[in-house]
Amino acid sequence: MRTYVRLTERDNVAVVTKDTAKGTEICPGVTLLQDVPQAHKFALTDIPKDGEIIRYGVTLGYALDPIPAGAWINEHMLRLPAPASLDNMPWGTHIRRDLPEAPVRTFMGYRNPDGGYAGTRNILGIQTTVQCVQGVLDAAVERIRRELLPQYPHVDDVVPINHAYGCGVAINAPEAVIPIRALQNLCHHPNFGGQLMVVALGCEKLTVDKLVGPEDNRPENVIVLQDCRGFEAMMSAILGMAEAKLKILNERRREELPLSDLLIGMQCGGSDAFSGVSANPSAGYAADMLVQAGATVLFSEVTEVRDGVHLIAERCLSQEVRDKLASEMRWYDNYLAGGEVDRSANPTPGNKMGGLSNIVEKAMGSIAKSGTSPIVEVLSPAERPTKHGMIYAATPASDIVCGPCQLASGIGLQVFMTGRGTPYGLAAAPVIKVCSRNEMKAQWPDLIDVSAGEVVTGEKTIADVGTELFSKIIAVASGRDQPFSEKYRLHNFLCIFNPAPIT
Ligand code: CA
Repeated sequence: MRTYVRLTERDNVAVVTKDTAKGTEICPGVTLLQDVPQAHKFALTDIPKDGEIIRYGVTLGYALDPIPAGAWINEHMLRLPAPASLDNMPWGTHIRRDLPEAPVRTFMGYRNPDGGYAGTRNILGIQTTVQCVQGVLDAAVERIRRELLPQYPHVDDVVPINHAYGCGVAINAPEAVIPIRALQNLCHHPNFGGQLMVVALGCEKLTVDKLVGPEDNRPENVIVLQDCRGFEAMMSAILGMAEAKLKILNERRREELPLSDLLIGMQCGGSDAFSGVSANPSAGYAADMLVQAGATVLFSEVTEVRDGVHLIAERCLSQEVRDKLASEMRWYDNYLAGGEVDRSANPTPGNKMGGLSNIVEKAMGSIAKSGTSPIVEVLSPAERPTKHGMIYAATPASDIVCGPCQLASGIGLQVFMTGRGTPYGLAAAPVIKVCSRNEMKAQWPDLIDVSAGEVVTGEKTIADVGTELFSKIIAVASGRDQPFSEKYRLHNFLCIFNPAPIT
């Protein structure tokens, strides 16, 4: 079993694969000067004050004081480098065509009446214009689940799209396009089978017309609570409409479809210094196989791409894609500056306990989940893709904000990598959880679906775990398998990204 991991020949630091005691000769000629916690870095050579600290072959930062060989390197010991320039980034200089061959090229999905990406689940989604209706809708959904759903065995679930937007917001602010677009696109999620059902209040700023457009604003699709005579009338209106939609959805059947009909998202959260060694590169390998077979894969999380943006730019297929990448990064730089912070606000206490010293180190691990495929498109938050292949969808890195953004883009499934552990899940699409280390799988055996821990110990390769994950993705997308978060119904609130003012 490996005792430490060094990623490139250039690296002057490595990480230990388990808690390792002071005095251990960790590699020839290097003895640890302190106890080093699992996944944390130690110096392979003497590093002078202001010397580069190099991992992934990139400069994570500069030493604040001299660091002797064998010393533990934590987040207090390095200065963050300046962010990479967004001007004139070289593009198209690293276009890989020899992607790993996918073992299958089809899956069993639900074709949709309006075309587009296929569903992975058959769900009655109930949209809302405003938070005010949640109490009533939740009461109705409880009754739909109990009284109606058992009569429609081909429908998997009923999911209310509850959110905190809709009123008390500056609806005409320039940045309000983001939350409005997110909610509009959620109405047409591929798992909802083209059936539209909206519950509105009647006096909100996000009017039904703004949410679904006048052509869909019809009595068979929309219930306005202020038009109902009391609570029981609301219940009977919602249950009646739900039953009509369930009848139609119950006719849907899975069929064998090409993987070009599958759209999935990649996200990570609660990362550690192994995330970039095991879980994320394995996910990247699976993503490359999916792209090779024609599928579309989104990866996101702006603050975790910002420091590796030049590596993404060189995979962009056109100048237009590169320019949109730069403009999304600039928008986010300004968004953060408006709050008097920068990208260094990203790492969490848990990330740091897991050995991640700063955002550069976290970013290098995070972008590994994008694999090596060419980048065919860049999306603004919650936009829907127009191309097939590897796509960068700019979203916040926050797990509970990135998830809804990717859902709005239409993902039928999300793959979620973690090092520290999170029980996160989405109601509208299954989430497969992949962990970076064996101890995480041992701690949460019934929450983690795939462990990449044996990549850390050297017992499996990235290709082994990537291929295993690919098979899991196909099985879950095809409805043959359920990840734990779906089995236990671990559903997080849909936190819609709203960078615009609240009034
Ligand atoms: Ca995240």
